[in-house]
Amino acid sequence: MEIIANYINGELIPPHSAKYIDDINPATAEAFDQIPLSDEEDLKYALASAEKAYPEWSELSAKDRADYLIKISDLIKENLEDLAEAESKDTGKPVQLARTVDIPRASSNMEFFAHAITQFSSESHAGKDSINYTLRKPLGVVACISPWNLPLYLFTWKIAPALASGNCVIAKPSEITPYTAYLFSKICIEAGLPKGVLNILHGTGPDIGNAIVQNKRIKAVSFTGGTATGRKIAEISAPMFRKVSLELGGKNPALVFGDCDLDKTVEGLVRASFTNQGEICLCASRIYIEDSIYEDFKAKFIQKVKALKVGSPSDNSNNMGALVSAQHLEKVKSYIALAKEEGGSLLCGDETIELNEHTKNGYFLRPHVFENLSNHCRTNQEEIFGPVVSLNVFKNEQEALSLANQNEYGLASSIWTSDLSRAHRIGNQIETGIVWVNCWMNRDLRTPFGGMKNSGLGREGGLEALRFFTEPKNICIQY
Ligand code: NAD
Repeated sequence: MEIIANYINGELIPPHSAKYIDDINPATAEAFDQIPLSDEEDLKYALASAEKAYPEWSELSAKDRADYLIKISDLIKENLEDLAEAESKDTGKPVQLARTVDIPRASSNMEFFAHAITQFSSESHAGKDSINYTLRKPLGVVACISPWNLPLYLFTWKIAPALASGNCVIAKPSEITPYTAYLFSKICIEAGLPKGVLNILHGTGPDIGNAIVQNKRIKAVSFTGGTATGRKIAEISAPMFRKVSLELGGKNPALVFGDCDLDKTVEGLVRASFTNQGEICLCASRIYIEDSIYEDFKAKFIQKVKALKVGSPSDNSNNMGALVSAQHLEKVKSYIALAKEEGGSLLCGDETIELNEHTKNGYFLRPHVFENLSNHCRTNQEEIFGPVVSLNVFKNEQEALSLANQNEYGLASSIWTSDLSRAHRIGNQIETGIVWVNCWMNRDLRTPFGGMKNSGLGREGGLEALRFFTEPKNICIQY
């Protein structure tokens, strides 16, 4: 069994504790590697290495830093197949999804921020008797903490802008899916990234994650994960007046109007609901349908959902793989039981899954669709983060908007209509940080990415990320 190592001061090293936990392949329920349990001693070493590397790294030209990022991006591309297979093994997602989405995006993240930093300019304000210009200085040593659902994709989404803008980084991937972060550390070594610029510590959230966040030498925390964890990080960081970027949970509404292109909408929403087993923070989970087309939509949607194939992630004909862990499968199943208790009618989901000898113990679940749930019930209010959606009915635009906004989360929404004015009206009033019209997860890396309400604080993406990882300093010169 492979043993994962931390990446500190440019080297792969075992954890100080010499303790490990198993990393499980969710499609087989078997351990395939061991994850280091890092502690304060590892953090101390990583911090010292990062602080030592910082002066030189932060003073490199943007072009020189960008060149390192481009090298890393190219190496991700060269290792696409190995990385995709590793990501699939660790998360349970179809290898085809990792091959076409996760890994190419990780490469794009590095490349995008390499280009972005060379174009990043700061403002100047000329007055009658003076001119002001604003410097944007890196912050120092920052932390990047990421979740398990899109492991390398979200890990690099944070690390790339942090490094590009001249910071040194202590990064912690999820202990549930650490494997591609380990492969990424090997890629950074191969790319010749200077020692200490990036340090990757493996281990659990409550231990090493918490130790990183508690440490006052960490100048900013960029976090993606659950809302409860985000709240803890915000509480710890607030007294330090430390910058935090929090990308948290979602309970994303989709609004389907009678004038939509029904076939395209059904296809779009099957994808929005069940891509990556529904384990994407942006997945649609509450689908609101205008009463005039409710039955038509339902029939077509259920037919397509029933046709989705669930099974071995390495079989390219499968649309969905396994859920990430036994614990997460239990959580999602508990919501399915809850939906039934709350009066929901199950439209599909309990069909049997055909598994082979290899995958028979895996954490597979068919996509579940409910109807007849009230808007305020827990199933319609809480994040499930799995292949479970509800169909709900509305009478008019005002009601659709009000039902969509009655939720503590505010990450992403989608609107399905052929009425452009309506799309603008709702886009303006819906309480989510991201709104897609007649599409889902159509991403342009230049746009602000993030949520409102309990879905987080701040925005990632494009210049927003570079602004987050820098401190503006205004200099005023009198003529
Ligand atoms: P999580 O909050 O349990 O863990 C996320 C990361 O934080 C992991 O690396 C974990 O080890 C670490 N962590 C846990 N406790 C910590 C602590 N006390 N201090 C410091 N670090 C700690 O989330 P998860 O279960 O890995 O991910 C699922 C959640 O992530 C869902 O709620 C999902 O919506 C959210 N998510 C949000 C986005 C977004 O962009 N908004 C994207 C993906 C996932």
